[in-house]
Amino acid sequence: MAGHTNGKLQDLKDILAEVSDLSHAALLLEWDQETYMPPGGVQSRSEQLSTLLRLSHVRFTSGEVGGLLDSLEGKVDGDFDSDDASLVRVTRRDYEEARKLSPDLIAEVARAGSTARPVWEKARHDENYTLFAPYLEKNVELNRRIADALGYKERPYDALLNRTEPGMKTSELEAIFAELKEAIVPLVADIGRHADAVDDRVLRREFDTDLQVSYALEVVKRLGYDLERGRQDISTHPFSSGFGPDDVRITTRVSREFFNECLFGSIHESGHAMYEQGMGRDIARTPLYGGASPGVHESQSRLWENLVGRGRAFWRYFYPSLQAVFHESLHNVDEETFYRAVNRSYPSLIRVEADEVTYNMHVLLRFELENEMLEGKLKVMDLPEAWNARVKSYLGVDVPNDRQGALQDIHWSFVSFGIFPGYTIGNLIGAQLMEKVRADIPDLDSQIERGEFGALLGWLRKNVHRHGRKFTPNELMERATGKPLTAMPWIAYVRKKFGALYGLQTAAHN
Ligand code: ZN
Repeated sequence: MAGHTNGKLQDLKDILAEVSDLSHAALLLEWDQETYMPPGGVQSRSEQLSTLLRLSHVRFTSGEVGGLLDSLEGKVDGDFDSDDASLVRVTRRDYEEARKLSPDLIAEVARAGSTARPVWEKARHDENYTLFAPYLEKNVELNRRIADALGYKERPYDALLNRTEPGMKTSELEAIFAELKEAIVPLVADIGRHADAVDDRVLRREFDTDLQVSYALEVVKRLGYDLERGRQDISTHPFSSGFGPDDVRITTRVSREFFNECLFGSIHESGHAMYEQGMGRDIARTPLYGGASPGVHESQSRLWENLVGRGRAFWRYFYPSLQAVFHESLHNVDEETFYRAVNRSYPSLIRVEADEVTYNMHVLLRFELENEMLEGKLKVMDLPEAWNARVKSYLGVDVPNDRQGALQDIHWSFVSFGIFPGYTIGNLIGAQLMEKVRADIPDLDSQIERGEFGALLGWLRKNVHRHGRKFTPNELMERATGKPLTAMPWIAYVRKKFGALYGLQTAAHN
């Protein structure tokens, strides 16, 4: 390309590097807030954060960035996949989205969120939905205004979904969810009739908390989480934060009476972290560094947590050492019993506690309800009734109160709709990738039984991690698996695994 173009591209990269530094500095302040900051720091921290985020937003949405993009589009060397062409394409997408939302609307959204949050907490605590309803009403209206500002062809939800899962359409997701519903509802009922087949009481014995944390860290190191470029701390809600490929941290929480929280939480977060550690250094400090979408990010955490960590081969390798570390609680529990316990499936009320089979039904009902509220088909006041009816119809359980029903998630106290589908998209992507991994690495299970995870991590690095945000979720799936997102691999996976665990007929004809 011409020297002139080269100079402009460098100018753009220089600005984007500053934007990236400012937003990663803000992320580090948030990490500190959740881990080590004393409670008294809240006020000054929120001021520091809002200053950094404002500077980053102003720098990014400046006319200078728009002018550079105008002069670079179509002139950068390299094909669609190249770093430079991708940089211009993805930066344009981010830039247009950021410019379409006026500073006034952004400020109103932030205010509405911080006002609604404490009301939601009180309403949930008091099991009093009417307290929260007016705030949710306001948030629904703001979501409509965001959708209008961003623009859409078919459905207002398309605009919101496009912010989180670029290129994904509401109608596509509806088709996927319909397929899931058809497969899962009868499977859940079938498992319910064979509930006695799996018992998870062994997970509720005593497990020393320090030993749990150190054991979990050994496990994630073995999987490939690099501690030269990462660390683990304790926080109330586990999360992972990447500041660049060479500093990606995870947090965990631990319960003495329930084994799953620390180990599976750590594996989950290390899946997120290995994704960001695997992104190319050449895309660091650009908009290409980061997860392709929350759904793709979630596919990495759930692939390691569920498809690997809740698999038989995984426990063949790890169970002897686990049993040795927690001798008192596990000496009379064999590997098979333990493997079955960590895979117990049962319909429950709370999304974040749901197992692999039922989880997507929790997401489906939220996706449906968000759409109906946004399109005015469901009145905010009638939400709990609609919620409870759907939980009954999809999972067969009665919701005793709104704390365990429509008020359980923090998400609707913030303004943004369109976040929930990412959790299911993550489950489906994980299974679709794993189907291809198994075709490419036929002896995967015997590698895992020997505690070898390098080939699997290498496959993910090559096909997913290194690309960062270069591709939309469907572009990424086409490249990695030859197909856009589909529910079939996930459906086949749960039918086979849970059919065998519960001795169901479905196992035979799948
Ligand atoms: Zn996650």
